[in-house]
Amino acid sequence: MSSLSLRTFTTIKIGGSAERILKLKDLHELQEPLPQPIRVLGNGSNILIDDEGLKGTVIVVRDFPPSEPEILEDTKEAVTLKVSGGNYLPTLCRWASRHGLSGCEYMVGVPGTVGGAIVQNAGANEQEMSQILISADVLDLKTQKLKTYSAAEAKLTYRHSSFKEKEDQLIVSAKIRLQKKPTPQIEAQISKNLAYRKEKTPYAMPSLGSIFTRLPGANKDEWIYPGKLIEDAGLKDFQIGGAQVSKIHANYIVNTGDATFDDVLALIEEVEKIVFESSGVKLQREILIWSDRD
Ligand SMILES: Cc1cc2nc3c(=O)[nH]c(=O)nc-3n(C[C@H](O)[C@H](O)[C@H](O)COP(=O)(O)OP(=O)(O)OC[C@H]3O[C@@H](n4cnc5c(N)ncnc54)[C@H](O)[C@@H]3O)c2cc1C
Repeated sequence: MSSLSLRTFTTIKIGGSAERILKLKDLHELQEPLPQPIRVLGNGSNILIDDEGLKGTVIVVRDFPPSEPEILEDTKEAVTLKVSGGNYLPTLCRWASRHGLSGCEYMVGVPGTVGGAIVQNAGANEQEMSQILISADVLDLKTQKLKTYSAAEAKLTYRHSSFKEKEDQLIVSAKIRLQKKPTPQIEAQISKNLAYRKEKTPYAMPSLGSIFTRLPGANKDEWIYPGKLIEDAGLKDFQIGGAQVSKIHANYIVNTGDATFDDVLALIEEVEKIVFESSGVKLQREILIWSDRD
């Protein structure tokens, strides 16, 4: 087992070690034989990791490659950029704003990386990755071959992409297209997003963002929001061990200090059970769970 702990690489601060934890600095490091299976971690802001540890290798991609966005094409109205898979979303948001480029304003409050945002089609405030993605450069970790997937092939839909089902793939970089807009207008939108998010998001405590996805309602464009169902079921504040349904937003589970993997999983399962009993709705998980227990 590695002497490192994955808890330091996740936003909920839970997770044990792995046979090998590779904080990626150079793609050549991937050519040496690595313990299997191989998993790719961005900023760990949407994954619950077992604190008993994992088999195989976890490649940590945050900040890799450590480069600034590169301008590939500059037209009257838009700019095409090459961005690193490991670019931190709030940093990209500010970079785009400084350069008068719109399309990343929602990223200000989303603590993930570009790679993770493509896999999960992250979004907020009426923007999402699918609106700006042109293509993704993906390294097949088995064959070491790099392939470019178009946005059509990546199939980004609500909190989903074709990469979500594929293993042994590392998004090294992506092409995105942003629209030109005056920086003050972009900054105003970012401030508005931040103000809204600060009110509705338990940023002061470790979490994984929304645990469950919204679900289609009875009519077109109507949505069932898990936070409301959980609140209506009387579960706000509900706690198992150190894991608690957030007082600020019931679709978040926060780590009150010493929460374990088992605490969070038990709380998720209990929320699913009680919501189903009280509303008949089967909640769908947005977060991913990494565990190798039999
Ligand atoms: C406080 C908080 C607020 C949040 N708000 C939002 C929100 O408003 N909207 C939203 O959509 N999400 C939100 N999230 C969830 C999360 O930040 C996003 O899903 C984010 O895009 C995940 O990125 P990540 O780098 O952390 O991915 P991780 O959690 O590390 O990984 C997620 C998935 O992507 C894969 N992956 C990551 N990087 C790569 C790569 N380079 N190559 C291949 N696969 C990769 C992983 O293997 C895994 O399957 C929030 C989370 C928190 C903690």
